[in-house]
Amino acid sequence: MPFLHRNNRAELAADWQDLVARHVSAWKLLDDQERAVLATHLEVLVTTKRWEAAQGFELTDRVRTVIAAQAALLVLELDLDHYRDVDSIIVHPSTMRFDRTSQGPVPGTEVCGSVDLLGEASFRGPVVIAWDSASAAARHPTRGHDVVLHEFAHKLDMLDGTVDGTPPLADPDLRQRWIEICTYEFDELAGSDGDTLIDNYGATDPGEFFAVVTETFFTLPTELEAMKPELYDLFRAFYRQDPAARVRRHGRTLR
Ligand SMILES: [Zn+2]
Repeated sequence: MPFLHRNNRAELAADWQDLVARHVSAWKLLDDQERAVLATHLEVLVTTKRWEAAQGFELTDRVRTVIAAQAALLVLELDLDHYRDVDSIIVHPSTMRFDRTSQGPVPGTEVCGSVDLLGEASFRGPVVIAWDSASAAARHPTRGHDVVLHEFAHKLDMLDGTVDGTPPLADPDLRQRWIEICTYEFDELAGSDGDTLIDNYGATDPGEFFAVVTETFFTLPTELEAMKPELYDLFRAFYRQDPAARVRRHGRTLR
């Protein structure tokens, strides 16, 4: 049956639930209904997206299942059609080093150098993930970083054709509040010089702000809700999830 594996599409692992329970910490906090939705999303992502390994890495059921589960968590209460532009998922074993050319400080000049990346999302292209970072974040979410949530959040931001930190929002009132509050919080982050709950990388540009706050929203939800309640409410309205309530419901943290 060679057609089953064309384009590197995979089958759902028979022990997917065991893999998720062991390697994705957030699974413990989901109720039965949420687990059922996550299972459906996970199967679609594993079986219909193209999965590729880079730099000699070997794709295993665990790699596909953990990454797909994290990506599924992000859109648990959204239509999976939000990932329609996710062409493929390319997994590297670890941090990727790329040579880049960018505009230099003097107009008309270019600077060449290498950059280290944990992941990348491109418009109507693949999502690239470093497995070691993704795996650690799935197990230890309270460190506040999650490359899978970050890169798939970029894909949501890209749905309306621009990476501007504002995902598609049907409600005009929510969109207006989004722009006002995110602009204020972005400026706050950009102006801060100490330790911040939201990683300073979020001050790079509005697109990174959305991706970084998404990481904080899912990994440190009670902290974000306490410190930035309006920002938390916006993300709760967009993702239609309340991860802080989930943590409280279980009377425990994600640790
Ligand atoms: Zn980013």
